Amino acid sequence: MGKSAIITGSTSGIGLGIADALAGAGHNVVINGFGDAGEIERTRTDLAAKYGVEALYSNADMRRSEDIHRMIDETVAAFGSVDVIVNNAGIQHVAPVDEFPAEKWQAILDINLSAAFHTTHAALPHMKAKGWGRIINIASAHGLVASPYKSAYVTAKHGMLGLTKVVALEVAQQGITCNAVCPGYVLTPLVEGQIDDTAKARGISRDAVVRDVMLATQPTKEFVKVEQIGSLAVFLASDAAASITGAALPIDGGWTAQ
Ligand code: NAD
Repeated sequence: MGKSAIITGSTSGIGLGIADALAGAGHNVVINGFGDAGEIERTRTDLAAKYGVEALYSNADMRRSEDIHRMIDETVAAFGSVDVIVNNAGIQHVAPVDEFPAEKWQAILDINLSAAFHTTHAALPHMKAKGWGRIINIASAHGLVASPYKSAYVTAKHGMLGLTKVVALEVAQQGITCNAVCPGYVLTPLVEGQIDDTAKARGISRDAVVRDVMLATQPTKEFVKVEQIGSLAVFLASDAAASITGAALPIDGGWTAQ
């Protein structure tokens, strides 16, 4: 049986791209996230048919630790192990810190940070038993640098880098790696939503947000592509990446080189 991979928040955007890439590399995959039930089922069956792997769907809500434990248990029951975890689910809210809604702060910390603790907490005993595992945390360039109006997101992503390093050190001699991937701007539904919010917060047009706020920070002047992040995840999940651990890997068109 091939290796198994859980990709949280994979009904859309980067997570879906990573699920596609890992399935393409022969992993049985568990997709997760919200959306239209029919569309999710189509995604699941398409992945399985396209790559000849098994694909499951978990409706686990990343705000709930009991859901996360259930998702890990179901994966182990179906595939015999949980070999790769990609902590990708994430949300965003853009507002000045003194106007930032407290419930949005909490939701962002829960989904973008605490969920990665809970998946790791639940999956590590299985990885340790097997002597092999890969934890890939989808952080952000905002795990390395800040931008205004994103207090909760930047805080959660910086925190994710801390968690990544601690986990990497704890399991370094057990065949398990833990790394953070730090993408720059990728044109996904999450970023589409931010264009309008940022336009409102800064009082500028949508075009100006793309040109002067988003791609202004990216020297390549291009959005990062989900397929590029998928390929990096496949590499990190491979045996060739066994010595990369505790790293924060920018994939940001040069943004954080500045
Ligand atoms: P997206 O909105 O397209 O996808 C987010 C996914 O998370 C969806 O599948 C959604 O259903 C799922 N999700 C949301 N809340 C959930 C919950 N409570 N439980 C389970 N699933 C939930 O966003 P994206 O742009 O693909 O972002 C994916 C990750 O990449 C996020 O962690 C984001 O912070 C990070 N990231 C995105 C960019 C970018 O420019 N798009 C840049 C850097 C990092």
